[in-house]
Amino acid sequence: MRILITGAAGFLGSHLSDRLIKEGHDVVGMDNFVTGSRENIAHLMGNEHFTFYRHDVSNYIFVPGKLDAVLHFASPASPNPASPYAYFNLPIQTMKAGALGTHNTLGVAKANNARFLLASTSEIYGDPTEHPQKETYAGNVDITGPRAVYDEAKRFAESLTLAYHRQHGVDTRIVRIFNTYGPRMDLEDGRALPNLLKQALLGQALTVYGDGGQTRSFCYVDDLVDGIIRLLYSDEHMPVNIGNPVEMTILQFAQKINQLTNNMAELSYVDARSARDPQRRRPDITRAQTILGWEPKVNLEEGLLRTIPYFKQKLGLA
Ligand code: NAD
Ligand code: UDP
Repeated sequence: MRILITGAAGFLGSHLSDRLIKEGHDVVGMDNFVTGSRENIAHLMGNEHFTFYRHDVSNYIFVPGKLDAVLHFASPASPNPASPYAYFNLPIQTMKAGALGTHNTLGVAKANNARFLLASTSEIYGDPTEHPQKETYAGNVDITGPRAVYDEAKRFAESLTLAYHRQHGVDTRIVRIFNTYGPRMDLEDGRALPNLLKQALLGQALTVYGDGGQTRSFCYVDDLVDGIIRLLYSDEHMPVNIGNPVEMTILQFAQKINQLTNNMAELSYVDARSARDPQRRRPDITRAQTILGWEPKVNLEEGLLRTIPYFKQKLGLA
């Protein structure tokens, strides 16, 4: 297949590009570098199976030549207001990438009679009142709250994707991605893993927001990419959760990172997040298990050990 990946210079987009090229496909990457980096795709430049367009997906997209699939991953993705790369600080760009970007990429898929896959998110569940989160749960999003620019854009994107499927017969897929980590995350984007692992490797106190009792379930990037590719090859049109169902508190997560990095510094409790920080999050992955035969294989310790060398190299410690 010849596959367009938007957000190809980002964390997930670059891993997906690598994997799809390895599987024998040609990848057309597209990115405007708003949160991604040239370094993430530097190794692909010059590869005959990779071409790249610098372009903002919120504007009309034209890609010469036939495409067989379109994977829409372009969007800011960090919720940390302290980071300039966070969607809080790119609110209009975030809504445009989710709304106009999804409209434009669906248009490309329709024109090419290509398969389409939308990168959605566990954030569409908001601060969930149902736990763990099944795909049938409609969510608890505060429409005007601080995270709404991301959550509502992704909810709109899902609805628009299904509208194109139902009205135009576009062959669509929707993946709801839960917290994922691994090499090529931006050390400065403020998400939990980059913040805490960077602090630990520098021997600093880990910043735990609130009392650290809020939970997340962290998935290693290779597992996530495997699930996404299975979904792409399937014929499932309704949303599928992909994430690791092992849930832990942020406090436990921070302690694990300290243990693996031998960091002796104390934890630092800071009041850095809005009251809208989701308190519990864990995917119900029954649909992924039954429809895709997928479940994660890499446990947290192994995933962190695979991620640490990248962070050390970025910090000049390797
Ligand atoms: P990332 O910031 O590393 O990658 C996003 C990429 O999209 C960046 O390279 C950025 O420059 C690009 N981009 C943003 N707006 C653009 C635009 N208008 N035009 C062109 N390019 C644009 O983040 P990521 O973690 O790789 O996330 C990728 C996708 O996966 C996002 O859609 C995100 O919502 C989704 N997602 C990620 C996670 C996760 O845990 N990593 C969880 C849920 C959903
Ligand atoms: N968090 C934290 N310290 C940090 C960064 C994040 O305690 O330095 C917490 C944050 O409050 C949230 C969780 O870690 O409860 C996951 O945050 P992340 O930004 O990775 O993504 P989210 O799951 O909130 O979208």
